[in-house]
Amino acid sequence: MKMQIGETYHGFKLQESRPVKEINATAHTFRHDKSGARLLFLECGDDNKVFSVSFRTPPPDNTGVPHILEHSVLCGSRKFPLKEPFVELIKGSLNTYLNAMTFSDKTMYPVASQNDKDFHNLMDVYLDAVFFPNIYKYPEILRQEGWHYELDDPAGELTYKGVVYNEMKGVFSSPEAVLERKAQEILFPDTPYGLESGGDPDHIPALTQEQFEAFHRKYYHPANSYLYLYGDLRIEEHLQFINEEYLSHFDAIPVESSIPEQPPFTAPKAVTVEYPISSTERAGDKTFLSLNYVVGRGTDVELCLAFSILKHMLLGTPAAPLKKALIDAGIGKDVSGSFNDGILQPTFNVVARNANAEQAKKFQEVVETTLRQLVAQGIDKRLVEASINSREFQLREANYGTRPKGLGYNIECLDSWLYDAPPTAHLEYDAALDSIKNALTQPYFEKLIEKYLLQNKHSALFVVKPARGLAEARAREIRQELAEYKARLTEQEIAAIVA
Ligand SMILES: [Zn+2]
Repeated sequence: MKMQIGETYHGFKLQESRPVKEINATAHTFRHDKSGARLLFLECGDDNKVFSVSFRTPPPDNTGVPHILEHSVLCGSRKFPLKEPFVELIKGSLNTYLNAMTFSDKTMYPVASQNDKDFHNLMDVYLDAVFFPNIYKYPEILRQEGWHYELDDPAGELTYKGVVYNEMKGVFSSPEAVLERKAQEILFPDTPYGLESGGDPDHIPALTQEQFEAFHRKYYHPANSYLYLYGDLRIEEHLQFINEEYLSHFDAIPVESSIPEQPPFTAPKAVTVEYPISSTERAGDKTFLSLNYVVGRGTDVELCLAFSILKHMLLGTPAAPLKKALIDAGIGKDVSGSFNDGILQPTFNVVARNANAEQAKKFQEVVETTLRQLVAQGIDKRLVEASINSREFQLREANYGTRPKGLGYNIECLDSWLYDAPPTAHLEYDAALDSIKNALTQPYFEKLIEKYLLQNKHSALFVVKPARGLAEARAREIRQELAEYKARLTEQEIAAIVA
């Protein structure tokens, strides 16, 4: 059917319809008047349909409340009270994808299926889970999914347990995770990106049921939601269902969830952190060295695309100039780079793994000297062309690995939509790509290197080095803390934990 701009369909007002020729689709943007919900429909011929509901969920602290809530809403809801609807769903469903993800500023619940009936059921289960979860009725959900005290017998040792608590303890034992966490904390000290949305095990036990409920009440409201439909589907039926079953029961309220910008630094920082290795492991060649830069805005389509190409150019192949220079200088056994643009203020980094802490200064020197040479002499145009071609091929192919295409597009949409920019900005990449192709005749990437890397003060050098016995020492502290807590409990309180 042909929809008219400005018309309302089952409570959803159509705000815009525009072709997105890069992906052979039409994007329809709606606003649900009564509840304030946003909805994007990417209409195309793909029969692997995708639905998702996402919320902007900046973490207020390091307790991991966004992550714990993501687990918890899938533990039963108003219409689907069974304890493990998610597990049951996977067993009985024909879905091609079913998951929930916590990002640093959003939480996403996507489903995909080629079967109409199945698609509808999954949508129903997910909407009921996020808007009417059983978390208020059963406080044991937070204890099970987040954290709780565990005690096998009254005389035994008290410990912390919980699905997310255990999961994050595992995550934080890896140097990669320690580096990533520290980099965000240092580069974004005044914004939610400085906090751990997944939960820092040292802070998870500070989360209370009241804070947990308050987080759901505030952020899991339709007015703070981003609904997404993709593929070859009958849109009106879905709009009607979502309106009648869910959104019509809510009234729009203002939800303050916008992500503030971190003001740039006046000088780069240098930070050393430790990660745990066992007391018997040797510490040589186990240090990670990393230079991290905050690069513009995630809504700047051309800059983000250019930086993903620059990353490949500098570090993507063994012959890439920055990678080669570091390896030749004997700094680290493995050198790579990444560009993370799934946030408001993207970051670019260069990492040397299996290096040594004494090499930190040399590492920075080699990176900066190499970049300066590239700017002065100009980057080999064959390398520029190969890197642009490789990225263009990836874009046209739209291969998102294990994720369905429609979900890959969805995540790209949120990369601008979540920051109040047009949802299809990153999908409409042709104009940006054309502009970047000026690099074949002009010093395009050289200028980016100069401005965003060499002259960039919003950056930091990280030395992440192994510390023997760190994990054991931390475990002793926690044991001590728990023993002191237990000593203050009455017999009845102890009995309640054992039960
Ligand atoms: Zn998890």
